[in-house]
Amino acid sequence: MRFIGAKNFMVAHRGAVDWIVVHATQGAEKPQQAIATANRFAGIGEPAPIASAHYIVDPTTVIQCVLETDVAWHCKGANRRGIGIEHCGMSEQTPEQWADDGSEAELRQSAVLAAAMCRRWGIPPVKLSPSDIVHGQRGIAGHMDFTEAFKTPGGHMDPGASFPWQHYIELVVAAIDTLTPAPIQAAAAPVAVASADDSDLVTTCDDPNDVCVEAVFDPEHAT
Ligand SMILES: [Zn+2]
Repeated sequence: MRFIGAKNFMVAHRGAVDWIVVHATQGAEKPQQAIATANRFAGIGEPAPIASAHYIVDPTTVIQCVLETDVAWHCKGANRRGIGIEHCGMSEQTPEQWADDGSEAELRQSAVLAAAMCRRWGIPPVKLSPSDIVHGQRGIAGHMDFTEAFKTPGGHMDPGASFPWQHYIELVVAAIDTLTPAPIQAAAAPVAVASADDSDLVTTCDDPNDVCVEAVFDPEHAT
C-alpha cells in the first residue's frame, strides 16, 4: 500500500482505538481520486488543509496518509479514538449507485482494511448507532452517526443515508475470516511520514477534535 503522509495530524502513539469512522469524500468516485486527495492532504501543489484521514479508497487504489497510531483530523468528537477511512464518492449516492462496480470495488478494498483494523485493535466488526456511540460501545460507524451522537453543530452527514451498511459489515466479517491469527500490534507503515511539528499544530488548530475532513472537498460544508 502506498503511503503519502498528510501534513496535518497529531502524533499520538496510540495504544488503543475504539472506532472505525466511515466517510465519503463528497468528490468523484473514480480511479486516481485517492492519490489526488492524498496529495492534497500532503500539501502537494497547494497549502495542506487542516484536515486528514488515515486512509483514502477509490475504486482501484488505497492510500494511507496517517499512521493508525496517530490521530488524523476527520470527524469532530471521534478523532482521538477513531481511525478514518475516506471513500471517494458522494453521500447523496442512491442504493443503486452504492451497488455499482466502482462502489463495490471501493467497499471491498475498504472492508479488507477495516478487517485488519478490527484484528489489530480488537474492534468488533459491528455497525454502531449514534446511541451505541453515546453509550461507549466500540465498532464501526459513519461520520453522520458521530455527528448525531455528539450533536455536532454543522456536523457532516456522510457517507449518507443509502450507504450499504449490511453489505459492508458482511464484507468486513468475511475479510476477517481470511486473516490468520496475529497478535495485536501497531500499524505497519513506512516511517517516512511527512511530519508536521507539534508547535505548528498548536498554532493552527487548538483542538484536533474540532476538525472534520470533508471541508477539504466542499467548502460549503466547512464548519
Ligand atoms: Zn466525513
